[in-house]
Order: sequence, then structure tokens, then C-alpha cells
Amino acid sequence: MWFFTPEERELQKTCRDFARAEIAPMAEKLDTEEKFNLKAFRGMGDLGVLGITADPDYGGAGLGATAATIVMEEFGKADPGTTLSFLAHSVLCVNNINSNASPEQKAKYLPKLISGEHIGCMAMSEPGYGSDAVGMQTKAVKTGNDYIINGSKMWITNGNMADVSYVYTRTGTGKKDLTTFIVEKGAPGFSVSKEIHKMGMRTSPTAELAFQNCKVPESARVGAEGDSTVHMMKNLEIERITIAGISLGVAQACVDQCIKYAGERKQFGRNLANFQMIQKMIAEMATETETMRRLLYTVCYEYDHGHKSNTLASMVKLQLPKMATKIALDAIQLHGGYGYSREFPVERLMRDNKLNEIGAGTNEVMIMIIAKNLLKDALKE
Ligand SMILES: Cc1cc2nc3c(=O)[nH]c(=O)nc-3n(C[C@H](O)[C@H](O)[C@H](O)COP(=O)(O)OP(=O)(O)OC[C@H]3O[C@@H](n4cnc5c(N)ncnc54)[C@H](O)[C@@H]3O)c2cc1C
Repeated sequence: MWFFTPEERELQKTCRDFARAEIAPMAEKLDTEEKFNLKAFRGMGDLGVLGITADPDYGGAGLGATAATIVMEEFGKADPGTTLSFLAHSVLCVNNINSNASPEQKAKYLPKLISGEHIGCMAMSEPGYGSDAVGMQTKAVKTGNDYIINGSKMWITNGNMADVSYVYTRTGTGKKDLTTFIVEKGAPGFSVSKEIHKMGMRTSPTAELAFQNCKVPESARVGAEGDSTVHMMKNLEIERITIAGISLGVAQACVDQCIKYAGERKQFGRNLANFQMIQKMIAEMATETETMRRLLYTVCYEYDHGHKSNTLASMVKLQLPKMATKIALDAIQLHGGYGYSREFPVERLMRDNKLNEIGAGTNEVMIMIIAKNLLKDALKE
């Protein structure tokens, strides 16, 4: 984008090179085996992107939404699954600790999370509470100097391997009585109850977590009791923007792959590129991808310049994943039978991208938020 700073351009190049060398070559194999790319994750620590938005005092890069989204786009082109795990770590866990935790908690957890020695996750969703996350039922009760947590968390990205979990609980009877705890691996009463197998994002582990009289010290509480609704709201925009960045990467990867294939595959004695219907598909996919890019990075630019918008962040979260799924389906069509096979990346990109229409708030929830914001006054009637 024309307004990227020299540092952002440098970051883009570094991440593109890293993704080509460390992420892309392993994507197909690890997708089949349903395994996490731990080597690439540790490499991201050396690259300095695991704390992309975190305070430099704790080892972070201190950058904004544009930088974080650039990383998502570049990694997302290579492997959306690895990128989802990167997002859960760097945005859902590290960024939340950075914005909401005490200086002592930050000093204790951020350096190892940012270097890549530790892996983080964020646990909000529950088996019975997904879109209605604020209805969560996992309870934390204070007993002496400790809290006892009971309940379960569902769909937690990195949950089976996280050293540090940022866990939302209910600490009162009011709707907004939500409190977060930083729970360490091995805490008594805390376990992984199930690993979840998925159609896509298979290089990103997903788990159900169980809390059975799990005891954590008061010092694990983030902020005061009941602070978590406000904490949650603070970071919603960057969470929605960055997941849309993965979809931008998916769309661009599909366009690149289609251009390559149209120049190689011959039918009726000519490259596919010669057929007007194929040209139309590529021209439309590329136009849609460029539309996505310009919308997304404009919203990032505004966010970084103090104009956070819940409506715009929800719009990019709604529109980019939807468009990327359509583009990935078109890319499969353009590849014919080979597109439907595992020989080319487009089927994996489609399976992976579908998650972005569900995770971090479904399309329907984004529509509800956008409509509520736009119709606020009219709804008062
Ligand atoms: C691979 C993966 C990774 C994830 N990672 C994490 C993570 O790291 N941490 C975490 O906390 N969560 C995570 N999630 C959970 C994710 O955020 C939820 O799946 C999502 O919010 C939807 O919740 P649900 O699955 O319970 O669906 P439900 O809320 O049950 O929704 C089912 C359907 O009903 C629709 N719906 C619901 N309410 C309404 C309404 N009022 N009006 C209209 N339609 C409605 C939904 O849009 C959807 O189509 C992950 C999920 C997946 C699949």
C-alpha cells in the first residue's frame, strides 16, 4: 500500500521471505498430518513478531494494527492454520496481557511469550456459549488468597500446547461480572479434555479445556473483579482486523496460484490463460482481492491514527472472509479436477478460510453488530 512506512515495507519483505522459507514448504504435509509447525513458531520469536503490538519494555515490537495485519497477510498466504495459531498467541493472548495485565504480570509472562519460548492461548468460548460469549458459565470463586475455577472452554486455539492461558470466567451473578485469570500449564485442576479435529486450519491445534476445582492464586487475576467486559471490548477491533488479514493472504495466494496455473495448463492445444472465461475469473478475483486490501489497510491506518471504529472493524471481519471463501472456490473451479485434489493448495486455502467466517465472531454476529451500530437511534423507537 502506498502509505506503508519504510519500516512496514521492511516488515512485509522480512515476513514474506520467512513465510516462503519456513511456513509454505511444510503447509501441505502438516495439514495432512494435522500437526503444528513448532519450528516456524520459534522462528517467529527470533523474527520479533510474536509481540508485534506489545510494549518494547517487555520485548515487544510496539507496532500497530497495520504491522500486525501485514504479518497476517504474508503468513496467511503460506499457511492460514499456522497464522491462526500465531494470531491466537500474539493478538488474543500477548496483546491482551499487554493491554490489561499489571506490570508484575507483564514482566512475568511477556518476555517468554514474545521470545517464542512459551506458547499462549485465549479461552473465552464454551461448549454452550459461543456467539453469546458474555453468557459464559465457567465460574471463579474466591477462597482465601486463591480462586477456584470450575467449567470448560471450547474451541481454544493452541489450547493443548499453551504454557499460558488467558481465561475468562464469571465471578458474580450480573451479566457483566466477568474476570480474567492467567492460568499456567500444570495448574492443579486444569487439563486438556479433548483435542478437536477439523476440516481446515488443521495446522492450528484446537482443544477443549477443563477446569475442575482449578486453584489459581489471587495474583493470577487480571485487573479487578468484573473488569473483563471492558478489557474484552478494548481489543475487539484489532482482533477482527487481524483475522481479516489472514483472509486477504488467502485471496492473494489464490490469485497467484491461478495466474500460475492458467499459464501452465493446456486444453484444446492452448494455455488456459487464452480462454476469456478464465481471464474473467482471474480479473475478477484480482479486483476483489485489491478491493479487500484497500478496505482493510485503510481501516488499519485509521485505527493506528486514533480512529478506532467498531463498525468498520466488524465490516472488514464480515466482508474479507466471505470474499476470500468465494475467491478460493473460484480458484478450485479454475483448476478443474486438480483444484478438487490435494495436489494444489487451493482446496486447503478454501477449507482454512471458512473458519474465518466463524471464529472471532461469525458473519451473522458481525451483521448484528453493524446493524445495531447503524440503527442505534432508530432502534430506540
Ligand atoms: C477453529 C476454531 C478456533 C477457535 N479459536 C478460539 C479461541 O482461540 N478462543 C476462543 O475463545 N474461541 C475460539 N473459537 C470459538 C469461536 O469464536 C466460536 O466458534 C464462534 O464465536 C461461534 O460460536 P459457536 O461455535 O458456539 O456457534 P453458535 O454461537 O452456536 O452459532 C451457531 C450459528 O448460529 C448463528 N447465531 C448465533 N446467534 C445468533 C443470533 N443472535 N442471530 C443470528 N444468528 C445467530 C451463528 O452465526 C452460527 O451461524 C474458535 C472456533 C473454531 C471453530
